[in-house]
Amino acid sequence: MSGTGSPPRRPALAGYGRQWIDDEDVAAVVAALRSDHLTQGPAVEAFERALAERCEVPHAVAVANGTAALHLACLALDLPAGSVGITSALTFAASANAMELSGLVADFSDVDPLSSCMDALTLEAALARLPEGRARLVVPVHFAGHPCPMDEIAAVASARGLRVIEDACHALGADHPDGRGGRLPVGSCAHADLAVLSFHPVKHVTSGEGGAVLTRDAALAERLRALRSHGMEGRPERLKVPEEAFDPATGEKNAWYHEMHSLGLNYRLTDLQAALGASQLRKLPRFLQKRRALAARYAERLAPLPFARLPTTREGYGHAWHLYVVGLDFDALGLTRHQVMVHLRERGIGTQVHYLPVPFHPYYRDRCAGRAWPEAEAAYRRCLSLPLHPGMDASDVDAVADALEELGR
Ligand SMILES: *Cc1c(COP(=O)(O)O)cnc(C)c1O
Repeated sequence: MSGTGSPPRRPALAGYGRQWIDDEDVAAVVAALRSDHLTQGPAVEAFERALAERCEVPHAVAVANGTAALHLACLALDLPAGSVGITSALTFAASANAMELSGLVADFSDVDPLSSCMDALTLEAALARLPEGRARLVVPVHFAGHPCPMDEIAAVASARGLRVIEDACHALGADHPDGRGGRLPVGSCAHADLAVLSFHPVKHVTSGEGGAVLTRDAALAERLRALRSHGMEGRPERLKVPEEAFDPATGEKNAWYHEMHSLGLNYRLTDLQAALGASQLRKLPRFLQKRRALAARYAERLAPLPFARLPTTREGYGHAWHLYVVGLDFDALGLTRHQVMVHLRERGIGTQVHYLPVPFHPYYRDRCAGRAWPEAEAAYRRCLSLPLHPGMDASDVDAVADALEELGR
């Protein structure tokens, strides 16, 4: 340890992730505030169109947050109650919880040790434990922004009769091979029924809270829109109770009239949030470029550290770098992870752990007794997410690398 007292604080390093808001974003929100619609207005549709275009997918349905997006995606598939859905053991709890909240039973696959993502092998291994036909859904998670091999996963899913929801909350802007020598953005749903995004402030673009569901299926998109807003229907041609719906004098639809066709929720995004999200989305190329450059700098600076294991990217895949998750050999350092986090915190550096495997949470633990996810657990034991967001520069990365270097002395 250098022992020269606390080095200057760098506000950019206070947390592992942070939003980047500029004057354009502020102006966009102010304009929405001054408009006629704070919610259910044109800003939401404009944001949805921009998302659909960016992800090369026909339909985007904006919702209140990423968890709501996962919940609606599960509900829209309308699977038999008690069906099993398999997600990665190494994810945020919401990937599994959304299934449980939709009458499904969450189960977990291990991950590939290089990408920390589900692949065909880990999915097959999870399916092998279950009675034939019991699993009906798979929810692959593009961990840290590294896309899962969706072509392989989709092949298993179609052979086994599983629907597919991509949890793409980490991976807006990532891409993967299209199988024909080109690339496809994550969210295109080329290999999935639905894909889900989050716009929490730590994610690639933010709307404060926010999320979206993407799909190529017009019927699913329509169901999502209904579920997002109480299952209400107001389009004259869809109404089911004509004697209530139409004015006997003119034959016109009654001005007040709406019917509830399905059991829905209020999971709407506001126009304020949508205006912010759309403004942020215009900056996504710059955000991605910055994240990729910072990740490259980390790789260069951390490579010489014998106790650090760097994240890797599969050949042909475009990593979106939501997180920079380094593996640390705490035994070699003679320190616990908590001690390392405190050492960094004392130098003004915020870090986080992604993730405690979801089946380790007490809510899931009992039903998972006797089972193991060795690669997910190994990744968890060694992982530490270092600060990574567009408000950082190379000298911030160097400050983190210097603080880690001190540990090895
Ligand atoms: C952030 C996140 C979510 C949930 O998104 P919220 O917008 O916070 O509800 C779901 N899954 C993963 C993998 C996430 O990182």
